[in-house]
Amino acid sequence: MSERYDLAIIGAGPAGMAASLYASRSGLKTCLIENGAPGGKLLKTYHIENYPGIKEMGGAELAMVMFDQALGFGAEYKAGDVVKVDEDKTIHMADGSRVEADCVLLATGTKERMLNIPGEQENVGKGVSFCAVCDGAFFRDKDVVVIGGGNSALEESVFLTQFVRKLYIVIRRDQFRAEEKFQREVEANDKIEIIREHIPVQVLSDGKVTGIVLQNVKTGEQQTIPCAGIFPYVGSDPLSGSVRDLGVCNEHGYVLVDRAMETKVDGLFAAGDVVDKELRQVVTAVGEGALVAQQVFRKVKEK
Ligand code: NAP
Repeated sequence: MSERYDLAIIGAGPAGMAASLYASRSGLKTCLIENGAPGGKLLKTYHIENYPGIKEMGGAELAMVMFDQALGFGAEYKAGDVVKVDEDKTIHMADGSRVEADCVLLATGTKERMLNIPGEQENVGKGVSFCAVCDGAFFRDKDVVVIGGGNSALEESVFLTQFVRKLYIVIRRDQFRAEEKFQREVEANDKIEIIREHIPVQVLSDGKVTGIVLQNVKTGEQQTIPCAGIFPYVGSDPLSGSVRDLGVCNEHGYVLVDRAMETKVDGLFAAGDVVDKELRQVVTAVGEGALVAQQVFRKVKEK
């Protein structure tokens, strides 16, 4: 017989950890399921300086504090891969086991998008990296290329400049998508050169990355940038495969929720980056997680 929880949370990022804290603290039988290290995107973030109350802290450090707090009121932690969530909130795990719950919170976040160009896949771990915080130190005194002009690309570029000799940021338009603050930081950094209106077309390697071929979007002209590292930061896709059959996602796979973070399936909630919304931040994720716990508490009391 599998156990039954008031709330089963899938994903131990900021949204899932906040929900775990609030739910277990209010006496709900709670479990927190995660298939990797707890922390979510915090683990890939060098430092956080826009989370109120914490002036500046490393992402991994904040993740550890949150995780400790998330389990501090009795929530159970389960390591494992969730394959599917049924309409009746049965969770099917990859090892064949099941988790039964009255309510489920999907807080699985997003996964970094690949460039899908020749040479990329086979060089992941050999110079192609999706995590500057994890791999930046491998590129000490080397040249690297960052692809993308969003907040992630610019923030991680600045982080990488403490190691690298030179860093190119390649953007496909003539302007960035990132906030002004990040733009000012990269423009003021001597190690950074910005290449506008170019797209990557091929990763070059001899067993390890040796360069990248870029193409001008207007003229079609190609150029090769010799480099040891390539960091694609071209956005991410929602990790919502486990609920896709339930018809709760939009055409891009983001989960549609109401003001109480509940999907159209009664008792199935979503919070954090996996949700279709305007602002993806730690501060919004934790607020949503807390709100879900409150809604589940009401449902359980009303039963
Ligand atoms: P993003 O904002 O979607 O930016 C993706 C970037 O990649 C854009 O510059 C986009 O170009 C470019 N791009 C997309 N596909 C491409 C392709 N095939 N080839 C070349 N370039 C491509 O993604 P993100 O930076 O990962 O951010 C995701 C979310 O997290 C955002 O909501 C962001 O605000 C948030 N975030 C916040 C912070 C913070 O506040 N500290 C830090 C990181 C992330 P175009 O602009 O031309 O489309």
